[in-house]
Amino acid sequence: MNIDLQFANTTAILVFDRKDSSANIFDSATLEELSVRLDELVAKPDVDGLLIRSAKPNIFIAGADLKELSSARGEKLTQLISTGQALFNRIADLPYPTVAAIHGACVGGGFELALACDWRIASDSSKTKIGLPETQLGILPAWGGTTRLPELLGLQDALPVILSGKLHSAASAKRKGLVDEVVPAERLKDFALSYIEKGKRHHTHNPITHNQAVAALTRIHAQKELHKKTRGHYPGPEAALEVAVASIGRTRAQSQQAELEAIERLAALPETAQLIRLFFLQERAKKHRHTSADPRKIERAAVVGAGVMGSGIAYWFSTRGIETTLQDISAEALAKGVKSISGLYSDAVKHHVLSKNEASRGFDRVHSASGKIPLHSCDLIIEAAVEELSVKRKIFADLSSRCRPDTVLATNTSALPIKELADSISNPERLVGLHFFNPVHRMKLIEVVRTEFTSDETLATAVEFVRKIGKLPVVVRDSPGFLVNRILMPYLVEAASMFEQGGDPEEIDKAMLDFGMPMGPLRLLDEVGLDVAMHVANTLAEAFPDRMEIPQVVKKLLADGHTGRKGGSGFYVYDSASPSPNAEATSFQTGTEEAPDDTQQILSSLMTSEAKLCLEEGIAESSEDIDLAMILGTGYPPFRGGPLTNPL
Ligand code: NAD
Repeated sequence: MNIDLQFANTTAILVFDRKDSSANIFDSATLEELSVRLDELVAKPDVDGLLIRSAKPNIFIAGADLKELSSARGEKLTQLISTGQALFNRIADLPYPTVAAIHGACVGGGFELALACDWRIASDSSKTKIGLPETQLGILPAWGGTTRLPELLGLQDALPVILSGKLHSAASAKRKGLVDEVVPAERLKDFALSYIEKGKRHHTHNPITHNQAVAALTRIHAQKELHKKTRGHYPGPEAALEVAVASIGRTRAQSQQAELEAIERLAALPETAQLIRLFFLQERAKKHRHTSADPRKIERAAVVGAGVMGSGIAYWFSTRGIETTLQDISAEALAKGVKSISGLYSDAVKHHVLSKNEASRGFDRVHSASGKIPLHSCDLIIEAAVEELSVKRKIFADLSSRCRPDTVLATNTSALPIKELADSISNPERLVGLHFFNPVHRMKLIEVVRTEFTSDETLATAVEFVRKIGKLPVVVRDSPGFLVNRILMPYLVEAASMFEQGGDPEEIDKAMLDFGMPMGPLRLLDEVGLDVAMHVANTLAEAFPDRMEIPQVVKKLLADGHTGRKGGSGFYVYDSASPSPNAEATSFQTGTEEAPDDTQQILSSLMTSEAKLCLEEGIAESSEDIDLAMILGTGYPPFRGGPLTNPL
């Protein structure tokens, strides 16, 4: 049994507890069981309220069984969707008040069930995550969610939740009106039970804003905003927008029929197949065992180098419960690093990602230390100092003398050969690369770099640690540029070369935005910093001289002090809200050739061919890993599936 029907006096309690699983999900069998439990419930006399809760420690309900949903077509899909709609409607239509007590992930179909209740109470646990991520999978909430959320919040407030597909912390969910109250986890059940006394909910809408005419206007604005983000590549949110807008003024049955028709259409699209594949690739990255060795626990860490990356890494570690010592050769840089961590915590509180309490506990886990303090308590040390091999070698020799012989020693180098650090330390089997991406708190991917010295146990420990801190590992071989930078760099360099030959920077960037990249290649070069990009490009040019020639324009820009966005100018000038082409950069152009018509084809195929070489050379373990790493590490358009799946 996956759902238990219990009673507390006259209140019925549906407890979700999927057997033999750590998660509650909705598949056909669970839906059928819910139907039986509801039959039992309505047969009971004297019930005057219903509470829905989960017995799992971290999950309310994680949504539909995506394996079943993604393989269902035709009749089967229709059946799955209309059964869910009908069951949730039965709950919504119960004559007595209904309350969802939400602790842990309440996602997709799980939240649609909660939306069918009158009231939603969430626990303040950081495990509580609430939202409708369906549009990120190319579909839409079709178990009534696209209809009910505008009814609950009004169209304007419901659309961002549905169209972004973001998950919200309990505090953020409360602010957005997704839940009614947030209470400590230990009080959740009792508080939710007491909410039954509130009675049924009655939606009241301001008729001046909640009508079809205003909905039509909202649609125009939302469509424009959506198109800016999707450039027409993502039919899921577009369909969700149509259904949500049309729900205003329609009956529930009409609107849910529109949900059904939309999901039937979306389920058959190739974009949806790619987005669902991406979901499963991420799930695999969370679990896949790379070796048979058992990982060791990492509870304390040190970060050496408190610059952009080091402070970002120390912040992230501390948010995830890791006691973290931050070091830097310069006291000034260390102070700056700590200040930036404090700023990241303030932002997280401001955006309701963390509560004030969580933020202050997290910040307390960061210990800045100057001087050569012993690091014997550290289970892992990661070096994030300047990108110079000689500096890194010195740091590793010093660290090796200050930590335990089994402390994992990691480097965050972007492109340097990590094996060159092995002879600086004792026990080089503990050496590994942990390549974080910038900004650390936003980028999910970490390349875990295995050197010829790295032991299975070190690899397993590094991979497990990456998962523990909520990131996704892709294991790559120690080779110049590893995987992501190696595939990305020829593309960036070719874009710079097109510019040098006379191409308009905005046209080149627009071509790749239209391809689906989140940022054009020249803007990306500016963002990364021309000096940093040059460093990586040089490392790659040395390793692969036949495929990498750095255009003079980059060198000239750097020589003239144009380092990119951080310095105020690069290919563009950043002195206003929207960057404009840098006239000085244009003066370095050596030709007058416009960017070719097939810019997209030329640039994207460079990524594909380098990706193929990486696969052949065994830089990554599989083509799936390469696709995943490029999507997570560079924003390669998810709807295309990755450079090895669906190139132009
Ligand atoms: P940064 O210049 O912002 O910071 C480097 C820090 O290291 C400085 O604070 C400096 O004082 C400190 N440092 C220098 N020598 C040191 C020593 N001997 N001991 C301790 N600290 C020392 O650089 P960053 O951008 O944070 O990059 C750090 C590393 O991360 C580099 O290897 C870089 O290639 C890599 N990386 C950078 C990015 C990025 O986008 N910036 C992304 C991924 C990886």
